[in-house]
Amino acid sequence: MKTPICELCASSGVLCSGCEGKLNSGKISQLDVDLSKTLHALSSEHKLGEASFTRAVDLGFSAIIFTDGNVGLLVGQNARVASAIGKQVGKRVRIAKEGADVRQTISDIIFPAKLLGVNEIFSPDGKKFKVRISRRDARVLPLDLDALNKLFSKLFNASVKTEFE
Ligand SMILES: [Zn+2]
Repeated sequence: MKTPICELCASSGVLCSGCEGKLNSGKISQLDVDLSKTLHALSSEHKLGEASFTRAVDLGFSAIIFTDGNVGLLVGQNARVASAIGKQVGKRVRIAKEGADVRQTISDIIFPAKLLGVNEIFSPDGKKFKVRISRRDARVLPLDLDALNKLFSKLFNASVKTEFE
């Protein structure tokens, strides 16, 4: 399993100087460390050997766990893995794919709301995205629009505006 800390740290719970350094410099967060340990503890029971956890974003009551691998492994059958992780860290968790496909990442984050589309706009001051979500899904969004825009902007390193239509 791939996690932001090394396997030995995830299993022992004590951070080596390398992982401690990453935590102190802010390259990884305490939540990344906690989730790595949690996933390691759940790995044998839930067959997470091939799973990959790249980073987590803390949203207060909930957290988003990003993977560059198979989303299904971390969700688990009937969401058993995701709910076991959530119980351990005391937050609702959702799993999102991070990588080349911006649409996929956004779809995972806003689920069960449906993504209508993403417009990519190139302007002199950098790349911008317009994220379009159905107005009917407003009430099932995990975050309000402001919070979503902040999160997307940080994730994609671009200015992002989410709109209902
Ligand atoms: Zn380590």
